[in-house]
Amino acid sequence: MYAAYIGFGSNIGDRLVHIQNAIHALSKTEGITLQKISSIYTTDPVGYEAQAQFLNGVAAIQTSLSPLALLHTLKDIETAIGRKHRIRWGPREIDLDILIYGDLCVQTEKLVVPHPEIHLRGFVLVPLAEIAPDLVHPVFQVSIQTLLNRLEDSKSVLKEEDCVL
Ligand code: AMP
Repeated sequence: MYAAYIGFGSNIGDRLVHIQNAIHALSKTEGITLQKISSIYTTDPVGYEAQAQFLNGVAAIQTSLSPLALLHTLKDIETAIGRKHRIRWGPREIDLDILIYGDLCVQTEKLVVPHPEIHLRGFVLVPLAEIAPDLVHPVFQVSIQTLLNRLEDSKSVLKEEDCVL
């Protein structure tokens, strides 16, 4: 079993329902055990900014799936939830990313782990630091809390007190 961290986000339609459905599907997948889920955060879009705010969060899982099998599972869940929009950085019903998978460092055409933008994004670092502040980033070899302390991203990441998963 490997400890992995999945980032999730949605900015179209009923965002919380999309996220709830994704978490439910993850919990029902053979080879995946949910360990922890962060709070939900309302965040400003990054990259392509003329779009609605996202709800984002992070889930900690234990998994016996290989990194590629996990990626395929995430893509299947995205499709089942109805992800249609394909503009890079554009609006999406649900986005699921492998952030970290054990100590693994891979860089292939299909999969880059750790996710290459973790250290640049408040919408990832804030929820990840909430559930795993002492987790050491396998490439930078410093904790998630340290990466968050160093973050210069000025985008808003606001905890939603009323969102229950
Ligand atoms: P996205 O637009 O976020 O759904 O990502 C598009 C593609 O990124 C996917 O089809 C994956 O093949 C690729 N990808 C590379 N690294 C990762 C990762 N760590 N997590 C999720 N997708 C990834």
